[in-house]
Amino acid sequence: MMSDFLSVSNLSRSYGEFHAVNDISFSAKQGEFIALLGPSGCGKSTTLKMIAGLELPTAGKIEINGSDVVNTPPGKRNLSMVFQSYALFPHMSVKENILFGLKARKVQKQERNKRLNEAVEMVDLGPHINKKPGQLSGGQCQRVALARTIVSNAPLCLMDEPLSNLDTKLRAEMRSEIRSLQRKLGLTVVYVTHDQIEAMSMADSIILLNEGRIEQASTPEAFYEHPETPFVAKFIGHPPMNLIAFDDLLVGVRPEHIGLVEQGGLAVSVVECDYQGSETILTTSFKESTIRLSLAGKRVLAPGAAVNIQWVPENEHHFSSSSGQRIERTNSVMNS
Ligand code: ATP
Repeated sequence: MMSDFLSVSNLSRSYGEFHAVNDISFSAKQGEFIALLGPSGCGKSTTLKMIAGLELPTAGKIEINGSDVVNTPPGKRNLSMVFQSYALFPHMSVKENILFGLKARKVQKQERNKRLNEAVEMVDLGPHINKKPGQLSGGQCQRVALARTIVSNAPLCLMDEPLSNLDTKLRAEMRSEIRSLQRKLGLTVVYVTHDQIEAMSMADSIILLNEGRIEQASTPEAFYEHPETPFVAKFIGHPPMNLIAFDDLLVGVRPEHIGLVEQGGLAVSVVECDYQGSETILTTSFKESTIRLSLAGKRVLAPGAAVNIQWVPENEHHFSSSSGQRIERTNSVMNS
C-alpha cells in the first residue's frame, strides 16, 4: 500500500484561549487532491499556513514525505503555494514572476528556461510572458501563479482560495484546468476553499472543518450520500438538504429527491416558487419546518396552495435530535 505523502497528526493552534485549530489529523497520499472545506473562520487557512511553515502549531506533528517538518523553515519544505491574491510582483514581467523562485534558489539559466517554456505552454501564457501583471486579466494572473508552482518542481502544492477573485464562468474553467494540471504533474494538493462546489468537483477527498475541528473527512460521494452530522448535511448540496423535525428525530432529505404527488406523502403548504431556468425551487412549510423541492423545468404554484410531497425511504437520512449524530434508518417517516 502507498504510504502517506503528507501526514498531519493532532495538530492544534490556539490564540490565547481561542482554539483556531483543535486537534485535527488527516493525511494525503502522493498525487492526492485534498480539499479543506468549511465556513469562514473554521481554521482552514491556519491549517494550511502550519503545513507551509508560515505559522507554528501549538501542538501536533506535520510530516512531509516521511520527515517531521514542524521545525523546518518554509523554504526548505519543498512545497509551492498559490494564494487568493496571486502574490505577483507588479513591477516584474510574467516571465520574471514565474522565474523569481528559481533564481533565488540559484537554479542554472538553461534549466530555468527549460522549465519556463514547459510551464508557459502548459498554462497557455505564451503571448503574455513580457507583460506586467497589471496588463493581465484575473484568470491570466492565476495562470502565472500556477506556472510558478509548475517550475518549482515541488511535489506538494498548497492552495488558499485560488479562484475566489474570478467570475463564475472563469472559476469553472480554472477548476478543471487546475485539476488536469495536478493530475498531469502528479502533484499532492491541499486546497482551501469555502465553496462546496469546488471541493466536490475537484477533490479526491474532502475535510470539512467546523470551529477548528474535523466534522467529516471522506470522499465527495460520501459527503453527498452519507453525511455524518446535520452540519455536513446542510453544507453540501444546493439548495442544501432539508432537515425536518419529527419528535426526537431530525430527518434529512435533499430537495432533488422530493416530488409532488396527487395524494399521500406529506401535506405541506406552498410558500414560494423560484424559477431558475432548468429547475424551479419550491419552498413549502410543514409544521415548524421549511421543506424545499428542486423540480425540473418551470413550475408555477400559488403561495398558500396545499400540495402533497413524497420521497423514497432510501433517500431519507436520520440524525438524533439530541446527539446530532447520524443514526441508521430503520423505518421511513413516509410510512408512519
Ligand atoms: P476564511 O475562509 O474567512 O479565511 P478560515 O477558515 O481560513 O476562514 P482562519 O484564517 O484559519 O479561518 O482563522 C481561524 C480563526 O482563527 C478565526 O476565528 C480567526 O479570527 C482566528 N485567527 C486567525 N489568526 C489569528 C491571529 N493571528 N490572532 C488571533 N486570532 C486569529
